[in-house]
Amino acid sequence: MSKTHNFFAGPAILPQDVLIEASSSALRYQDGLSLMEMSHRSQPIAEVFEEAENLVVELLNVPSDYKVLFLTGGASSQFYMAPMNLLNANETAGYVDTGTWSTKAIKEAKIFGNVEVIASSKDKNFSYLPKGFAEPEGLKYLHLTSNNTITGTQIQEFGTYKSRLVCDMSSDIFSRPFDISKFDLVYAGAQKNLGPSGVTLAIVKKDIVGKVEREIPTMLNYQTHIDKNSMFNTPPTFPVYVCLLTLRWIKKLGGIEAMVKRNAEKSNLLYGEIDRNPLFYGTVEKEDRSKMNVCFLLNDDKLNDAFLDAAKKANIVGIKGHRSVGGFRASTYNAMDIESVQALVDVMQNFEKVHG
Ligand SMILES: *Cc1c(COP(=O)(O)O)cnc(C)c1O
Repeated sequence: MSKTHNFFAGPAILPQDVLIEASSSALRYQDGLSLMEMSHRSQPIAEVFEEAENLVVELLNVPSDYKVLFLTGGASSQFYMAPMNLLNANETAGYVDTGTWSTKAIKEAKIFGNVEVIASSKDKNFSYLPKGFAEPEGLKYLHLTSNNTITGTQIQEFGTYKSRLVCDMSSDIFSRPFDISKFDLVYAGAQKNLGPSGVTLAIVKKDIVGKVEREIPTMLNYQTHIDKNSMFNTPPTFPVYVCLLTLRWIKKLGGIEAMVKRNAEKSNLLYGEIDRNPLFYGTVEKEDRSKMNVCFLLNDDKLNDAFLDAAKKANIVGIKGHRSVGGFRASTYNAMDIESVQALVDVMQNFEKVHG
């Protein structure tokens, strides 16, 4: 059977080696048990969590005044958990509105305090990122979305901000280095670039927690999970294990710098073809193009189904664009090999020969 090229946006591709080892551990891990059958209080699972936490610290250079947490509820739960834990009712947080996910984050934050949307790219269907916006004094935090999975824009570099940052990095964490000291909180659903769905990574600056006046339900309080090393209740043990395997894989390949190189090669290849091929065009301002989610359209959208057919014949799946953008979206997360991007480029070139 030939290889299927998985361009889905999430849940998304995982490294083949990770899937092989995870399958084996699903059947038999230690003491004749499946990893899924083991108590979260057992030594082997404690070791999985400890190593996963340590690898996040190592790969992202997380200093000791931060805590790495494995939570549940997806990035969508962080949309409310962040303001619930950080923002008093009389305080103001700034949000940059760059698409569906930030819009949802803004809606949730308004439940807990004042929200000022200090910049938005809604005027052009979120096809660019606002820059050079004024940042009001005294914001409790400024919320950013590092990579907009749906529209395919990505903050290329975190600049200098007056405010402390909170960032949704769901779809590009571990794809590049960043200076965590600017951030009070970073969160990411695992199912884009880290592991299977069911676990959410949060990296929390410890001294920001416990400063709000409201009462916070135990499970929604970062302090609970900091105190209990992500083991207050029964955590998603198997998803965290698969994250651990992925983190080991990133380290084995050379860490975050190796991911930067790998992702640049893939996105250069694909954007290069989009710009060269007269049948296609990219939907995003060039300077804001995402290296994780590449969005593009056919000039003649009557050919959309024919292109999807041609891709399918080449074992390419998951390239249909989000309904809000249309066209195509190729998600090229860390785990994807350049061969898969080449397979897509080959289809685009053959398509040009037939329809050009
Ligand atoms: C997928 C995604 C989310 C939503 O994640 P869930 O884990 O489904 O809650 C939020 N933000 C971004 C940037 C995403 O890509």
